[in-house]
Amino acid sequence: MMQCPCGSNLSYSACCEVLHQGKALAQNAEQLMRSRYCAYVLQEIDYIVQTTVPSLKNLLDRQAILTWSKQTKWDGLDVLAHQEKLGKSHAKVEFKAYFLTSNATSVSVRDAHHERSAFVKIAERWYFIDPTVALPTMKQPCICCSQKKFKQCCYPYLMR
Ligand SMILES: [Zn+2]
Ligand SMILES: [Zn+2]
Repeated sequence: MMQCPCGSNLSYSACCEVLHQGKALAQNAEQLMRSRYCAYVLQEIDYIVQTTVPSLKNLLDRQAILTWSKQTKWDGLDVLAHQEKLGKSHAKVEFKAYFLTSNATSVSVRDAHHERSAFVKIAERWYFIDPTVALPTMKQPCICCSQKKFKQCCYPYLMR
């Protein structure tokens, strides 16, 4: 049985697979983050798209995500912090996603993407707020469709 790439010490079938197949929903932002890392490892690009805030989905470059996820030699995940109760429907997860890279002398070295990602719950589902796409201006309606202005809703969580 394949061990789940997300580092949970569970088998893939008992962990992220049911999320990737849409048979279960992530219970919290940390679980969503883990399953998204796992989706990069396994090139489950549909899952990456589906777990991004719906209003931002069309801004994602699927091909670029696929290429990047394939070319990266993933080497594990550490979740450093999970701030679940930042707001009624926001959370942040700090993590290190490790990958192998070659240095000048072609020796394989371990490096990490160290990030603090923001997540928002919309209609009981958690979504990743992708900060790399073109986001609205401060006074425009928020990406999560809360009917608040971006500045007063998701924006502050991207900054903290
Ligand atoms: Zn997993
Ligand atoms: Zn919002």
